[in-house]
Amino acid sequence: MGFLERAIRKGVSQGVGRAMGEALSKAIEPHANELANKAAQRIDEAAAKNEEYENQRRQNSAFNGAFANLERAANDYATQLGKNMKICPGCGETVTADKKFCPHCGAKLPEQTVAEGAVCPNCGKQNSIGTKFCQDCGTKLPAAVAEEQAQLMKDDAVMAEWDEKLAVYPKWTLGGKDYYIEEYDAGTFGFSARFATPVGAQAAVRQYREVLLQNGFRQAGQYPNIENLYKRINGTVYHVDTEHCFEGDSDCPQIYFNAAEPYGGFDYVKPEPKKQLELKDLKGLFKR
Ligand SMILES: [Zn+2]
Ligand SMILES: [Zn+2]
Repeated sequence: MGFLERAIRKGVSQGVGRAMGEALSKAIEPHANELANKAAQRIDEAAAKNEEYENQRRQNSAFNGAFANLERAANDYATQLGKNMKICPGCGETVTADKKFCPHCGAKLPEQTVAEGAVCPNCGKQNSIGTKFCQDCGTKLPAAVAEEQAQLMKDDAVMAEWDEKLAVYPKWTLGGKDYYIEEYDAGTFGFSARFATPVGAQAAVRQYREVLLQNGFRQAGQYPNIENLYKRINGTVYHVDTEHCFEGDSDCPQIYFNAAEPYGGFDYVKPEPKKQLELKDLKGLFKR
């Protein structure tokens, strides 16, 4: 019983997880478990009647068929539940379909239910919940489109925050927008960006340095380097520090913005090295 129960639970939860995404899977987990337990019990009863069953089962595709049936049943059940459910674009919680605003975070809820979001606008197929593209014709499903729009709205909100807090710096629009601006010290700001891969993140930071250079930021002070760029605006020197941006997490570079004089001063000029005396200079001294 133990083995069967585990195997079936796994089969169900993997299928459900794939098909529905985490939020909905959480909501239907108790029901999926109930289904799994019932199936386990049935198989267990069958096994008790026939001791050979355990051996046959290994060669028999019927067992895989039982998993597929369970997965289908769980998907159908999820679609039924999804007809009375919306997913909040703000916090990702599942909410009953009659609500207009999320009771958890106050965000405006979408018009479509979870089930409607999985109906193909091209061919009308009701796809498994959580699918991004139609399983029959490949069209992008409404839920996936809505998810992208929600992300864009979040991006716009971040851009507005940038205008408010970091107006003197060129905007970061390269290599992804999934970041947040946070104050790390009074009057100065830290900026975090998240990327899918460390390589992508490093390339994006390099690109941002180029954007800064194009916008009049430059290396300055006694020890100039490309990781610290400065610009003087109305008497204040603004500084962008990309020197320590991968210290916390190579996937999530953090760029620091602040007003700071570079070491040795913004207009520091390296002194000319003392001219060495050459033989031709000496010649004149002895001329009479
Ligand atoms: Zn919410
Ligand atoms: Zn379709």
